[in-house]
Amino acid sequence: MFSYRHAFHAGNHADVLKHLVLIATLRHLMLKPPTLTLVDTHAGAGLYRLDSEFADKGGEAEHGVVRLFAALRPAQGKGGASTPLIDDYLDLVAGFNPGGSLRVYPGSPFVMQRLMRDASRDRLKLFELHPTDGKTLSSNMAQLEAGRSVVVLRQDGFEGLKPLLPPPADAQGSRRALVLIDPSYELKSDYGKVSTCILDALKRFATGTYVVWYPVIPRTEAHDLPRKLRAAAQRAGRGWLHATLAVGHPPLEPNERPGLTASGVFIINPPHTLAAGLKEALPLLVDVLGRGRGQGHAVETGDG
Ligand code: SAM
Repeated sequence: MFSYRHAFHAGNHADVLKHLVLIATLRHLMLKPPTLTLVDTHAGAGLYRLDSEFADKGGEAEHGVVRLFAALRPAQGKGGASTPLIDDYLDLVAGFNPGGSLRVYPGSPFVMQRLMRDASRDRLKLFELHPTDGKTLSSNMAQLEAGRSVVVLRQDGFEGLKPLLPPPADAQGSRRALVLIDPSYELKSDYGKVSTCILDALKRFATGTYVVWYPVIPRTEAHDLPRKLRAAAQRAGRGWLHATLAVGHPPLEPNERPGLTASGVFIINPPHTLAAGLKEALPLLVDVLGRGRGQGHAVETGDG
């Protein structure tokens, strides 16, 4: 436990997929005026330096956000052909890098905070259990001086979500929430916890929007997770969307391991516009980020 540090992976292809989906989903929810409660059950440290010793070790951002910028925005001049979802994602990341070169990568807490409306309307709850990353997250968020609209809780996000659902009603009686569930899956038990958490959350608040990220790896639990989430959504009569991005890998030396080559997001109660946006964006992400064997993408949806 606690050997996972997101700083090694920030800005990789999995973050590109997850954050692009998160931004598109939030943009849609923000079109409607009522209050939105945002929850990040596994928040990480919030902001990452792409030139830190962590980032240097794996160079994962080089094959993710850095490569995407280089291909689609030579010198940030918006050069290559893009799609609206990719553009929106790159714009948001560029907003954290006013000097032009990519030095800082915003994790999900900063992505969400950037898209929140005024403090009297939306609120953000962030859970992070790692002692060091929890502290870093608190100090990173404190710099925003967001007041009581952003709360950092150094607690278990699976348990901490329960009392937050259903979210409080606003003055018009409207209840809305978006929950991101993005564990490290460092422990095999995380897969089961995600399914249980979703089943419980749908009982408490069936109309919430739930975004789950997971790694596509040869492990039974990882393979079963989207199937279980689909069954949970169908039982609750809710719509769902499942998208995967596989960047594949170049030829390997004997005994060489390719690292994480694919990941997926499963969304319950997704915006109706998301599938079309992803069907446009994912082929281009594969073109730019694809590394060889096994690369590909998929989007499937189901009605409630
Ligand atoms: N959501 C972040 C982002 O997109 O920028 C990345 C999160 S990272 C994949 C997962 C984080 O969950 C790690 O920082 C880890 O320390 C933390 N974590 C692990 N178990 C947890 C738990 N039960 N509750 C809250 N945080 C946990």
